[in-house]
Amino acid sequence: MRAHEIYIHIPFCVKKCGYCDFLSFPAGRDVQRDYVDALLRQIREYRERSGRRIPVSTVFFGGGTPTVPEAAWTGEILEALREIFAVEPDAEISMESNPGTLTKEKLAAYRSYGVNRLSIGCQSMDDGELERLGRIHTRADFLDSFRMAREAGFDNINIDLMSALPGQTLESWERGLRQVCSLKPEHISAYSLIIEEETPFFDRYAEQEKLRGSGCDLTVDGGELSESDRLPDEETERRMYRRTEEILAASGYVRYEISNYAKIGRECRHNLGYWTLVPYLGFGLGASSYLEKSPDGSRFVRYRTTADLKKYLAGDFVPRDMEQLTLKDRQSEFMILGLRLMQGVSLQEFTEKFGVPMREVYEPAIRKYTAQGLLEICDGRLRLTGDGVSVSNVVMADFLQDSE
Ligand code: SF4
Repeated sequence: MRAHEIYIHIPFCVKKCGYCDFLSFPAGRDVQRDYVDALLRQIREYRERSGRRIPVSTVFFGGGTPTVPEAAWTGEILEALREIFAVEPDAEISMESNPGTLTKEKLAAYRSYGVNRLSIGCQSMDDGELERLGRIHTRADFLDSFRMAREAGFDNINIDLMSALPGQTLESWERGLRQVCSLKPEHISAYSLIIEEETPFFDRYAEQEKLRGSGCDLTVDGGELSESDRLPDEETERRMYRRTEEILAASGYVRYEISNYAKIGRECRHNLGYWTLVPYLGFGLGASSYLEKSPDGSRFVRYRTTADLKKYLAGDFVPRDMEQLTLKDRQSEFMILGLRLMQGVSLQEFTEKFGVPMREVYEPAIRKYTAQGLLEICDGRLRLTGDGVSVSNVVMADFLQDSE
């Protein structure tokens, strides 16, 4: 049987950041323990339902902040996963973390349970920017966490960074990138801030975001916004985006996905699997699963667990929003996720997977964007060009087919 990936959602955070729309919140120790108990029940129930010992190639603890609960509980979760699934001996076991929640003892414990990849949510190397984001940590806390992680033996570390932050300048972004490069992490994720609805940032910045690019004066209640409250203008944001690849490339990081950079061989295996449609099982609050439902791999389903904490703690693990994926859905996902990767999508793999050549399904979009220089075909793969990457959302939208 094909190896699967496992995602474990830990929704707890010390406090909610101003821009965050993830399923995450603070909670006391008792609730956290009840949650881990429910998670263990959900994992065991899955085995009873499926009756199979599925091979697993990656495990990813995401959140929230998986390093908020006691470290020993991560050990219990991994023990249950190894009992129920055939977790491969060289499986990538990743854990998201935030500075301010890591200690020497916790890091040593994660290592002893087999966690072999750590992702640290640094976000910015500027204390003012961190404060405006509502982060719980400073630059010094991040540096401490990174040092402790290395001392604990983590030799595969990702650092998350965010650009286009309120008050951020091109100089502070470049300085932060260089400082992070000097630490030599194996992987860097660099995302732009997105102002999401129903967050405090939406109330504060949505209007400004609409005005950016329109040439209007940015004012609030008739008064000019202070520098530190301004989002960078669109031109600065574009320059940050361009400089990211240049600065990271100069330090030996290869961009392998729109927002992800790694030293050779240090790409995140879990995310690569996600972008190439490897089946995954999600456990925990609101977690999604994507599974093959027929031996020939022609039927796929997607569903999710309840996002209601009360129901989840009461043992409601019933799959929700069950979607049978049509051939068109799968072709669209193959293209849209695959084009996020700099290597693009293989024409031959498309034919093997779907029994029809890619060009037969997508000829108009391929012709249009190759003519515009936004896509190219190289070594049997269709991929975004440098110009295509900066307008990837527009290009990808044309690979979405209406469901049958
Ligand atoms: S630490 Fe991450 S998950 Fe938690 S509130 Fe902040 S952005 Fe959201």
